Amino acid sequence: MHKETQAIHAAMEVVNNNPDIVPPVHRSTVYQLDKEGRSEGDWHYTRLENPNRVQWEHVLKVMEDGEAAAAFSSGVAAAAGVFQSLEPGDHIIIPEDVYAGNRKLVNNIMNPWGLESDFIDMTDLTNIKNHLKENTSLIWIESPSNPLMNIMDIEAICDLAHENGAVVCVDNTWPTPVNQMPLKLGADLVIHSTTKYFGGHSDILGGAVISKEQDDFFEQIRMVQRTGGAVPSPDDCWMLARSTRTMPYRMKGHNNNAERLAFYLQDHPKVQDVFYPGLPSHDGHKIAKKQMSGFGGMISFLIKGPQQDAIEIVGRSKLIGRATSLGGVESTWEHRRSSEGEGSITPKNLIRISVGLEHPDDLLEDLEQALG
Ligand SMILES: *Cc1c(COP(=O)(O)O)cnc(C)c1O
Repeated sequence: MHKETQAIHAAMEVVNNNPDIVPPVHRSTVYQLDKEGRSEGDWHYTRLENPNRVQWEHVLKVMEDGEAAAAFSSGVAAAAGVFQSLEPGDHIIIPEDVYAGNRKLVNNIMNPWGLESDFIDMTDLTNIKNHLKENTSLIWIESPSNPLMNIMDIEAICDLAHENGAVVCVDNTWPTPVNQMPLKLGADLVIHSTTKYFGGHSDILGGAVISKEQDDFFEQIRMVQRTGGAVPSPDDCWMLARSTRTMPYRMKGHNNNAERLAFYLQDHPKVQDVFYPGLPSHDGHKIAKKQMSGFGGMISFLIKGPQQDAIEIVGRSKLIGRATSLGGVESTWEHRRSSEGEGSITPKNLIRISVGLEHPDDLLEDLEQALG
């Protein structure tokens, strides 16, 4: 079935013991044991199993075309679940411009734990080859990257990784399975910050890992999820399964609006450069066209002028909100370097927009007046 249909019906395919059209929320933290004091599998305590989480994980695996999924309480908790399932002493290759929270996770928690890491330019396959080591067990991909929207060739990197006995995990938060299906391109794992487009309304924190196979590595991730305990609440699982029902249509809107804005910005005299994989002028456009079915709702662009000009332009918006993060129905933008803070390598004149679902003419009008 197609994404639009799966998104609407998947949640009701599992643990659905009543005639409801939408599932109830199961807040009970404990479940009745049988007369011998036993439970079926892990159905005795909510950290181990919960009907809403089972439904939500089923939605995730159907949407990404995987065999298994584990839901976490945030995107970085999902990433930690993957890293903690490796062995101390393992080596990972990860993009130099990876999501800043995942960089902090690796540097501040996983390196002291014993994980070796190389943050490198992954748009260049030879560069990846040169960084492969005997103990490289995982290659992390984030494509498009943040905020420069670099495109990595998922299929080619998976081939290289598998020849060398490493698994590939793709952070698919920005494209979502509506625009990109990493498991079909050869990846072993997908992670999400479901805080973004799955939630879609800037009101839920969540994360997920989806695995192509229900193998030993996934079982280890499942163990970390249940034993580490960073699980989402039943209410959050319910909300996320609810929001997913409209995600395929929301993504079409994000794709269309962002494309309109990207072409507009490209021709604007105050704009030096636009980073959007849907633009034919983008360095990664050819690969993006091969591996994406839509180019997403995120745009970065450089202002002709110093940092102060970029900050003032963002300050002048009337409709576009000033906020970090992304994926909501409302458009937001930010001077990215200010958000990233100390150590940021983002260009000083870069503005990043999360293009929402307002009418594009209204967004263009606000852009026009803010750019001046
Ligand atoms: C936001 C984000 C994350 C982290 O997710 P949280 O839900 O904030 O923990 C990871 N990867 C990408 C690409 C993100 O945008």
